[in-house]
Amino acid sequence: MCVGLFVLSSPRLLPESIMSTRRSFLAAAAAAPAVLSMHALPAIGAEPTPDGTAHVLPALPYAADALEPHIDAKTMTIHHSKHHAAYVAGLNKAEEELAKARISGDYALIQHWSKQAAFHGGGHWLHSMFWKVMAPPGRGGGGKPTGKIMAAIVASFGSYDAFTAQFSAAANAVEGSGWALLHYRQSDGKLLILQAENQHKLSSWGSTPILGIDVWEHAYYLTYQNRRADYVKAWWNVVNWAQVEQNLVSLGG
Ligand code: FE
Repeated sequence: MCVGLFVLSSPRLLPESIMSTRRSFLAAAAAAPAVLSMHALPAIGAEPTPDGTAHVLPALPYAADALEPHIDAKTMTIHHSKHHAAYVAGLNKAEEELAKARISGDYALIQHWSKQAAFHGGGHWLHSMFWKVMAPPGRGGGGKPTGKIMAAIVASFGSYDAFTAQFSAAANAVEGSGWALLHYRQSDGKLLILQAENQHKLSSWGSTPILGIDVWEHAYYLTYQNRRADYVKAWWNVVNWAQVEQNLVSLGG
């Protein structure tokens, strides 16, 4: 929503009809800030930046050892404080360099910084979602989904078992580093499973991830070594279905 289009800076130059519209809009804005602010919506991935200028690493929503024995504390600590932090720094750097290029007019490195923005931006967003869609086993994590998210899964995949089989197969088959992602497509209200290589490749437009598993080796290697399928199987024990349902609802599903 582009509020700025309506908040004009030179009201003295405007005819009364536009001024009236402007007053009506501002009155409505004051009366219903929750409706008009995009930031009022719960964020699936990265949260809005505090000052609008730099991305920040979000805190883990639980202790580093909270997902044990399925994901060990050392993996969680390194994954969050080193890997995710590096994506945040990389995204800020890419955006700084693109801003410099706009000022200087020197676009010699436009391809490099555009790629960096996509890679690190994807990493920041997906990891921000990843922490939130997990919870300690038996305390918000694991079990079967219920409610709207279960209904959507059954409608889109036929059954919960069919969904988990396809999702696990997609995760296990990601080539190299990447993700398996459950997307919600608003155009037809369907859920779909996609892979992502690295943080961003194989994306599809018009749908938004609401659940994902990181299958980069940094997400599991200390405990599972090359046994990615064992990690994927264990990961179902920490899926926070309440959060996944909230993600779906936030998109209108
Ligand atoms: Fe990761």
